[in-house]
Amino acid sequence: MISNVPSSQDLNNSALTAFFAAWHQLIQLFDDFNQSFGLEDPNFSEELEEYYEHCQAELETIYSLAAQASELALKARICEVSPYLLLLGHGASFGETDLDIDFSDLRTIDAVDLPNAVNAICTSKVSDRFKQRFSEIRKLRNKIAHFGGAGKDSAPRDVMSLLVAQYAELWPDARFLNNWINYIGSRRYSFFHDGKWVSAELEFAEIQKTFFSLLSKGEFKKIVGFPKSQRRYICHKCVFEGGLDRHDLAATLDTAFLVSDTTLQCQLCTKSSDVMRKDCNEEGCKGNVISIGDPYPERCHTCGWDQ
Ligand SMILES: [Zn+2]
Ligand SMILES: [Zn+2]
Repeated sequence: MISNVPSSQDLNNSALTAFFAAWHQLIQLFDDFNQSFGLEDPNFSEELEEYYEHCQAELETIYSLAAQASELALKARICEVSPYLLLLGHGASFGETDLDIDFSDLRTIDAVDLPNAVNAICTSKVSDRFKQRFSEIRKLRNKIAHFGGAGKDSAPRDVMSLLVAQYAELWPDARFLNNWINYIGSRRYSFFHDGKWVSAELEFAEIQKTFFSLLSKGEFKKIVGFPKSQRRYICHKCVFEGGLDRHDLAATLDTAFLVSDTTLQCQLCTKSSDVMRKDCNEEGCKGNVISIGDPYPERCHTCGWDQ
């Protein structure tokens, strides 16, 4: 019999890990420059260009991970119908054996055929634009794998737009910020997360500002799920979970949106919380969304101060 048959969920989880490994590295690459010089500062445009030249090797890794993410996500879709469809296109021949055959030893469908296979087999299809991007990323990845370089300079912002579009099409119903923080909480460094001094929320809070500023209105809506112009609020649950109060970073984690007059929903932890509407009594704060209940009752969701 065939052992270790993959599940659609395992493949999808691996796809998300590869995607966010690429994404996290990319945003950190922007953030490093932003912290020191400022991405939008015209006085440092020459430095920024020079910096981007230093980024090329990392961008190649990012491309490779993005290609891997797309391939795994498409395989997950096929696997949802039947894992054995992944063996399509290769007339498998079996010799006389009493041993189990490990699924991973079998040759699976070629990456180049994945988009068309998905469109033939699955109910959720991929678009022509997706196919173009898929083949673009794959070609670049192959060049990198075989010749040790993409042979052209990649503009980091273009790479980012490409990743946003890939995510929006591969996981249309998923919660981007939640997927991202789950990735942060699962990688090697999460071993050191003690919830007090180091945490996934803290890591996210440190790059959140750069991330929000980089996204265009359309990109923001596509992956965060709300208009970029919609007011954002601090999620006290995330602040509490991540121990952000200790770092004076509480006010930076504004990942919640009003979904009704008295309900906030956080895109990072995906939890909803009831709020009351009254003006914050902290001088200079125009906020009027105040928490009820745990973990911090009567705390302003705009400035983060207790009432
Ligand atoms: Zn939250
Ligand atoms: Zn306030």
